[in-house]
Amino acid sequence: MDSSISNETVRSSQSTGNEAFQLLSDETRLAILQVLWEAHDPADETPMRFAELREHIGVEDPGRLNYHLNKLMDHFVRRTEDGYKLMDSGKRIVRMLLSGTAIDDPEIKPVAVDISCWYCGGQPEWSYREGWRYLECTNCDARCVESFPPGVISKTEFPPSGLRGRTPDEINEADRIWGAHRRASVMDGVCPECAGDMPVTSVEICEDHHPDWDEYQFCEACGSIFWMLVSHVCEGCKYRWRMPTLFYPTRQPAVIAFYYEHGIEFDLATYEQRTHLLGFKEELLSEEPLRFRISIPLEDEALGLTYDEKMEVVDVNRRG
Ligand SMILES: [Zn+2]
Ligand SMILES: [Zn+2]
Ligand SMILES: [Zn+2]
Repeated sequence: MDSSISNETVRSSQSTGNEAFQLLSDETRLAILQVLWEAHDPADETPMRFAELREHIGVEDPGRLNYHLNKLMDHFVRRTEDGYKLMDSGKRIVRMLLSGTAIDDPEIKPVAVDISCWYCGGQPEWSYREGWRYLECTNCDARCVESFPPGVISKTEFPPSGLRGRTPDEINEADRIWGAHRRASVMDGVCPECAGDMPVTSVEICEDHHPDWDEYQFCEACGSIFWMLVSHVCEGCKYRWRMPTLFYPTRQPAVIAFYYEHGIEFDLATYEQRTHLLGFKEELLSEEPLRFRISIPLEDEALGLTYDEKMEVVDVNRRG
């Protein structure tokens, strides 16, 4: 791509960012979004008439309301013959605000959930605090990365809106499904936050990797139990996701078929199947260009996938 074009794109996305912040730094405009949101019925997209909108917001001067509506119109609000309604981007803004504030300062004390630790088979406990969901093993002190407290086998951000009306087992289930789909989107190169391009930005390979698999402890050199870590960064919104290479085979039809033929309905979303991921073997074939193989052993067979630096599969072979 011509560099002048990409610079132009960056500049215009920055000014769009400034504009968006300014647009929302006004009480009347926020009130417009709120009123249109409250009137929004997903099954019936009837727009709201100007007079009705004015009445709800309580603005005396129609000129003033019109001024603010015009400001919102390119980005968040659409005018139709029958009145005004939120564009998808306007709905998304309101949903984002609501998802973070659905429950005041939610905290859920650790409770046993219906899964087993993928490191030791022990009983994990699920808990929620400060916007984070924790899975903590009661049987082992696994620390797959340095930044996790001992025993925390998994930790992700989960919006408070996902807690409402659910038992801890149900929240855990919702969390795993939500996380798995978002992760799949990242692996497919599409940002789950903004739908922008989210390419692989690095494949980090530890040069002196010595994790303690018996204790499930991270390697001192790289701070992770996993030898290879892939990062994606969204070009639009800076969203970043880092994960072991071991998740990538779960997107391959050849892998799904391989498991299926061995009587396993493999679905990357389940916690139970993470023990399979831990059995995958990584092998560095060349550094320049980067090529590595992930082998998936099953009974007396093995499926091997060769990846490049963009996490594209360049070769598949089956032995056994
Ligand atoms: Zn454990
Ligand atoms: Zn290491
Ligand atoms: Zn994004």
